[in-house]
Amino acid sequence: MKIVKAQLFLTEYNRSSVKEFPKRSKVVGIRIFTDEGIYGDGEVAGIHATYGAFGLIRDMWPFVVGQDPMDNEKIWDQLMLKTFWGQNGGAFWYSAVSAIDVALWDIKCKALNVPLYKLLGGKRRDKVRCYASQLQFGWGPADSPAVTVQDYVDRAKLAVEDGYDAIKIDFLNWDDEGHILDETNRLGLLPPKMVNMFSDRVHAVREAIGPDVDLIIENHAGTNSQSAIQLAAAVQDCNIYYFEEPNTPTFYNNKYVKDNVKMPVSQGERIFGRWEYVNYFLGNSVQVIQPDIGNAGGITETKKLCDMAYVFDVGVQVHTCASHLLTPPSVQLEACIPNFVIHEQHMRSLNPANQELTTKVVLPKNGYLTVEDDIGLGIEWSEKALASEEQIILK
Ligand code: MG
Repeated sequence: MKIVKAQLFLTEYNRSSVKEFPKRSKVVGIRIFTDEGIYGDGEVAGIHATYGAFGLIRDMWPFVVGQDPMDNEKIWDQLMLKTFWGQNGGAFWYSAVSAIDVALWDIKCKALNVPLYKLLGGKRRDKVRCYASQLQFGWGPADSPAVTVQDYVDRAKLAVEDGYDAIKIDFLNWDDEGHILDETNRLGLLPPKMVNMFSDRVHAVREAIGPDVDLIIENHAGTNSQSAIQLAAAVQDCNIYYFEEPNTPTFYNNKYVKDNVKMPVSQGERIFGRWEYVNYFLGNSVQVIQPDIGNAGGITETKKLCDMAYVFDVGVQVHTCASHLLTPPSVQLEACIPNFVIHEQHMRSLNPANQELTTKVVLPKNGYLTVEDDIGLGIEWSEKALASEEQIILK
């Protein structure tokens, strides 16, 4: 079997209708075709890396076309070693490789007529526990800033009523007057007013959801090691499941944070490749990793990261910020690994426009997603996505 061509496209993805977070992202989708009529779909989890990743896939295509898609790991290695910036590549390189890699896994599974989990070592669970993610934007099709303490409580309750027993919130996107908090407000030692506002919001949510619902704090690496330690100290009585991206991930700052907070720390959506991850494992500075199969190097690299993490007693929550296309393969991977922690269900997945991009919509029931037995990824790009005006054919 040979790879003969690909359709590469960009289409709109609704990230937010909140004024300060303008519609700023697109889906980068790919469909790779073979000479045997089998095709596979992939995606870049792009956010702000869409045009860069789109361009890089064009640059990489000569290394992919003509190859046997069953040799997907060999192709991955060749892309790293033969594209000049592959070694120690960053977000863009890993994102471009991800879309190609996911599509090749889809082809491989279809050719062998098996679900993805069969090729990832076999599933250990039939369903995965999910958390409702990014509730500061809301929980439902619409979104608006959470400003008052009651806003945070209402959204948390909404997700719990929807069947979730775990939620995640960034408590520092806006101040208590609705002004956005950016890097000018959140880096370095924080004034008491800011720490108290954060503490009041977290404590109110913890009280509202009760002791049996897990609460994850998300800082989007918007704070640094000093402010993160202040914030963690203020809420250490709230039984935080884990503290996500308390600081820009650098090994030494992460170690400083971990040594000074009394809760598990997660990182990974901004760490790329085994060669970077290894420092965090060796330093025991992270307890949960969050690679995204749409930008961490695809299913191939993410599985390797999961296996490395297992050696160091580190758990895995696969990051999800892409369309519904990457949900089934993420769940399949999470079903196979021994160190699975929890699955992220992003509030953007509830947006009706985003749900039109794929042949089906994948949403949890009572806080759990079922591991399906579909062949391949178990989902494809919709006709609407494939009809995007912004596309090229790679040959
Ligand atoms: Mg995050």
